[in-house]
Amino acid sequence: MLIHLDQVLRQPVSWQETVRVSVDDLGLDDVLEIGPVTWSGKVTRTEVSHADAARADGSRGEPGYYLRAHLEYEQTVACHRCLAPVKLPVAADVDLLLVRDAPQALDGEHELEEDDLGVVHVDGETFDTAPLLREQLQLGVPMKPLCRQDCRGLCPICGSDRNRGECDCKDDWTDPRWAVLADLKKD
Ligand SMILES: [Zn+2]
Ligand SMILES: [Zn+2]
Repeated sequence: MLIHLDQVLRQPVSWQETVRVSVDDLGLDDVLEIGPVTWSGKVTRTEVSHADAARADGSRGEPGYYLRAHLEYEQTVACHRCLAPVKLPVAADVDLLLVRDAPQALDGEHELEEDDLGVVHVDGETFDTAPLLREQLQLGVPMKPLCRQDCRGLCPICGSDRNRGECDCKDDWTDPRWAVLADLKKD
């Protein structure tokens, strides 16, 4: 969704869309599948009073824009221990202050630039919500997801799922790499 900030000067602009995204396109290696994303939000005009939002060169700032958005989707990830697929619902809110900067020469693709305070500097008159959504989906990837808190994982020897029962592998298992070294010493 492309937000025209000139339009926001006159009245708030909202969007509501269902976005189909591709795990591959997003480069989300740890996600198996991602469902359609419900993505909605609103941009309203606001007076920029925050000192950090003013431009560094001291020039008079343009009006600011307040963006509030919400996204919801379901993603399927692999359990960190047993690799079973786990479905996780995700919901997140986004709050940002958009500050319009003087138009600059764009060198190719320009990334979403956001500072620590949630202030995004926008080149020109339009703000594209797509990079923002992409960033949120990347933030939504869990670090070490588990199918359940007490998941017993896979047996390191035979690879069987320990959640489904015990295997016959012995506990006094030694790393095969050490076994190779031991064999070398014998020669
Ligand atoms: Zn598991
Ligand atoms: Zn085993």
